[in-house]
Amino acid sequence: MIPLVDVNREHKFLEEEIKQALSRVVGKGDFILGEDVSLFEKEFSCYCETKFAVGVSSGTEALCLSLKALGIGKGDKVITAANTFIATALAVTFVGAAPVLIDADPLTYNIDPDKIRKFLCSRHSKNTRAIIPVHLYGHPADMKAILKIAQEYNLKIVEDACQAHGAYYESKRVGGFGAAGCFSFYPAKNLGALGDAGIVVTNKKSIARKICMFRNYGQIKKYHHLIKGSNNRLDTIQAAVLRVKLKYLDKNNQMRRSHAQLYSELLKDSGYILPVEKSDCAHVYHLYVVRVRKRRQLQDYLSQQGISTGIHYPIPIHLSKAYVSLGYKRGDFPITEELSAQIVSLPMFPYLKREEIEQIADCLRRF
Ligand SMILES: *Cc1c(COP(=O)(O)O)cnc(C)c1O
Repeated sequence: MIPLVDVNREHKFLEEEIKQALSRVVGKGDFILGEDVSLFEKEFSCYCETKFAVGVSSGTEALCLSLKALGIGKGDKVITAANTFIATALAVTFVGAAPVLIDADPLTYNIDPDKIRKFLCSRHSKNTRAIIPVHLYGHPADMKAILKIAQEYNLKIVEDACQAHGAYYESKRVGGFGAAGCFSFYPAKNLGALGDAGIVVTNKKSIARKICMFRNYGQIKKYHHLIKGSNNRLDTIQAAVLRVKLKYLDKNNQMRRSHAQLYSELLKDSGYILPVEKSDCAHVYHLYVVRVRKRRQLQDYLSQQGISTGIHYPIPIHLSKAYVSLGYKRGDFPITEELSAQIVSLPMFPYLKREEIEQIADCLRRF
């Protein structure tokens, strides 16, 4: 069986280094906000070319705390992609604000800036405070257009970079374009922990400071509670593992990029709609997603041939039961709806083998 994602292959290769990092933390015993957390924060902010980074407990919390740090809450609206993982919208909801969904660009599948403008010109746009662009599948959103809109309408930007660790937009890493950039270290992401973890990067000291307080009961100094915070910290154990894995992130992303290139070569002119990479971006292929009309049959066929596939995502947010309350209906986001019916994610992870990709491409062509 060729899996959709296999983190074990990478971990086998890093086993010794990871074990050493773990036993170092166990030896020291600084499990909560220990030395590896601050070291990882320094290393990751450096990697993202931002001034600050604050480790938190997940990507979802990174988004929530970023919005909170910007003072966004009840009565506010936040624009985000209709075509994203539901956690993006849930973060908006959990700070008390209302998500406004915007349909995708049919080429990159990311939020369409023209449709953001259209919303902002409508009478529903009152109290809109921020935009959360999502760099879906590892392809950066159209940041130039989004930054321009944000400036014109005085909106904050919080990037959802949970699928795009290390991706470039023009010559700059994603995460540092707006007020805050949010990353998830869920195990299957391009940079994954051994459990849940996340981080916020920012160039603003005041935002970093607020998130530091929010994640730790509202304190900077022990028992001096300046605001009402919660417990959303990054574990020292996870930070220690992430420090090991960060060293290999660029190499791993490069492997993903060459896998994607090989897939695209082998599947050229085969009738499938393949992923695009815009010339001003460096895609990091968290997922390699193709489009096909007979998706169900294709998935069954591949599965019979021992090839796992996925769908990211089968039910758009606006058609999810959880978001009936937003009042959207089928037909509101035609691109997102069409994508959700046609997309298939093929196996993609750094240690996927060339022969496996060839086998998968063969099967796709045969189908
Ligand atoms: C994974 C992901 C999240 C949520 O991250 P968690 O660490 O699972 O909370 C948010 N947005 C996107 C686009 C993601 O892919």
